[in-house]
Amino acid sequence: MIADRLRERIAESGPISVAAFMTQALFDPSEGFYATKDPIGAGADFITAPEISQMFGELVGLWIAQSWLDMGKPDPVQVVELGPGRGTMMSDALRACRAVPGLLPAMQVTLIEASAALKAVQAQTLGPSGAQIRWIDRLENVPAGPAIIVGNEFLDCLPLRQAIRHAGRWHERLVGLDENDANEFVFVLGPPLGVDEALIPERLREAPDNSLVELRPGDRQVVDQLAARFATQPGRALLIDYGPAHSETGDTLQAIRAHQKVPPLQDPGTADLTARVDFESLITAAREHGLTSWGPVEQGPFLLNLGMEARAAVLSQASPGQRSVIARQVWRLTDEEQMGSLFKLVCLDSPGLAIPPGFSAD
Ligand code: SAH
Repeated sequence: MIADRLRERIAESGPISVAAFMTQALFDPSEGFYATKDPIGAGADFITAPEISQMFGELVGLWIAQSWLDMGKPDPVQVVELGPGRGTMMSDALRACRAVPGLLPAMQVTLIEASAALKAVQAQTLGPSGAQIRWIDRLENVPAGPAIIVGNEFLDCLPLRQAIRHAGRWHERLVGLDENDANEFVFVLGPPLGVDEALIPERLREAPDNSLVELRPGDRQVVDQLAARFATQPGRALLIDYGPAHSETGDTLQAIRAHQKVPPLQDPGTADLTARVDFESLITAAREHGLTSWGPVEQGPFLLNLGMEARAAVLSQASPGQRSVIARQVWRLTDEEQMGSLFKLVCLDSPGLAIPPGFSAD
C-alpha cells in the first residue's frame, strides 16, 4: 500500500515535504489516486464543471474558436488540454468548434495526462469526435507552432509546499509519523526555508507566528513552460481553477473521497488532494516571465458573458423535459454560493493579441 511505502520512507530518512506526500498519494504509478482509477463523476469521488453540464465545455470551445480567429486562423494550430480527466470538456469543446469553418481540420489536439487509467477513459470519450488526438506527457514536448492551451482543475492538484512561521522565521511544514502511533501521519515543523523565503509573496512574509503559507512550485513550472513557448510562438492559455484572487495565508490542503472531506493525511492514495490556487502569485510570475495576463475573472460572470443563458435556452427548447435540470446546471456553475465565485479563470498569452473573450482590459 502507498501508506506503507510512505511510512517506510519516513522511518528510514525522516519526514517528507507536503509536496512529496502529495506526489506519491496522487501519482504513485501503481497505486496513486489518479494513476489507477477514474475518480471523477457523480458516482465517484469528486465532480468538476465539465461533468456538471455540456455547456461548460461548449463555451470553452467557443473561447478556443474565438482565440483561433484572434490569432489569425493559424493552420495547423496545437490545441492542448492539461489534465483532461474524463475527456468531457474537450469532447464538448470540439463539438462547439465544428461551427467554425476551417477550425477542426487545422487543429492538432494534444492531451497532457499523467494517469494511464484516465488516458483510457479520454480515448473512449473522444473516439467519436473524429479529431486527431495524441497524448504527450509534458507541455515542453508539444510540437512547435501556434497553440491554444486549456486546463480545468489542473493546477489545484499539482503538489504544493507549506511553510509555517515559527519564532519569526518561516519553516517548511513536513509530514512525519506520530511518536505515539507510528501508523499515523502527522504534520511536523521542518527546517527553516532559507533562501526559499523569497518564494513567499512579499505582502505575507511578515505574517504573525503560526501563520501558514502555501507555495506552488508546480504552478510556477507551468508558467515557465508557457512563457518559454509563447516567447517565440504565438499562443494563449486559459486556466480555470478554484482559489482567491489575492494571495492569502492559511492551510487549504483538502482531501475529498466519495464527495466528502476527509483528513488530508489519512489513507494516502484513496482520496483526491488539492489546495486553492494562488492566482495573484501565478499572475505575478507570468508577468515576470514576459507573458500578458488577463483576469482572474469569476467563473459565473465569465460563463454568462460567453452566452450560457442563451445556450441553456436552446437546449431547453430542444428537450423541454430537461428544462429544470438545465436551469440547475446553470445555477451550479454560475451562482456565487456554488462554483460561480470561488472558481476563476486567468488567461496567459503571448504579447500583442486581442483581449481574450470573457476578459476585459482593466
Ligand atoms: N480537467 C478535468 C479533470 C480534473 S482532475 C475535469 O475538469 O474534469 C485533474 C486532472 O489532471 C486529472 O486528469 C489528472 O490525472 C491530471 N494531472 C494532474 N497532474 C498532472 C500532471 N503533472 N501531468 C499530467 N496530468 C496531470
